[in-house]
Amino acid sequence: MIFASDLDRTLIYSDKFLKSFSGRVKAAETGQYYSYMTEAAAQLLKYIAGKILFVPCTTRTIEQYLRVDFLQTALKPEYAITSNGANLIRGGVVDTGYRDMVSRLLNHHCAAGHDVLKEFDRLASDEWAQPMREADGVFYYCIIEKAKIPLKELASFCNWARGQNWVVSLQGRKLYLVPQMINKRAALTRVIQMTGDYRVIAAGDSLLDLPLLQGVNYAFIPAHGELYEQLECLPDNWLLTKSSGLLAGEEILQAVVKLVKSQVLCHSERSEES
Ligand SMILES: [Mg+2]
Repeated sequence: MIFASDLDRTLIYSDKFLKSFSGRVKAAETGQYYSYMTEAAAQLLKYIAGKILFVPCTTRTIEQYLRVDFLQTALKPEYAITSNGANLIRGGVVDTGYRDMVSRLLNHHCAAGHDVLKEFDRLASDEWAQPMREADGVFYYCIIEKAKIPLKELASFCNWARGQNWVVSLQGRKLYLVPQMINKRAALTRVIQMTGDYRVIAAGDSLLDLPLLQGVNYAFIPAHGELYEQLECLPDNWLLTKSSGLLAGEEILQAVVKLVKSQVLCHSERSEES
């Protein structure tokens, strides 16, 4: 059984979320930046990672992923999906075969990054968007001031980008421009092929997590973020948490532990990967 989960705003949370939480927390990322889980959530994740295959699936670059020291020191996941699915790390080493496949897909199926940036520059201004940064050579993101975004222009850019096979995602203070071919599902499919384990529980909070959640046995969505705001109805096997913020992370992990203990996925249920 695999637990494939997004990290930021699903399992770990920046200090902004601490303001609305007064319980005990564990710093999952320390150093220049900090991210937190509830103490209980950290214990639950440790339990899960000891019982089934926990695969972190993050939009963070490899460098940003390695900063989450709780994962690197206490959990040491065998597989990790970073860069929104552009990189798969196995045993601490980047899977170059997979990365080559990603590059081929990009060259053939998506508009070139510089063309997308050029179009974005037509609506972006210093008023609401800091300069775009390239992430692991495959996608772009910038810090934005949400309240000042020209919504109509952005909506029309999103439509244009969709036609170029690019996805625009707004997550907190960041706006992402990501080629559609790059997604966490493609990398997870490779993990499934490598392990032969097709039973998947997934969790995520943003539009970029949508491909990851589709077709798994169980999917969890926290009651905050892009998916929560935009999804109108959920498939039967998708579960929305009751709580939001750090407690949503804990609630997801409690539910996963329940599934692990019940062994509900041990025998008969198969995801679309089968
Ligand atoms: Mg997230």
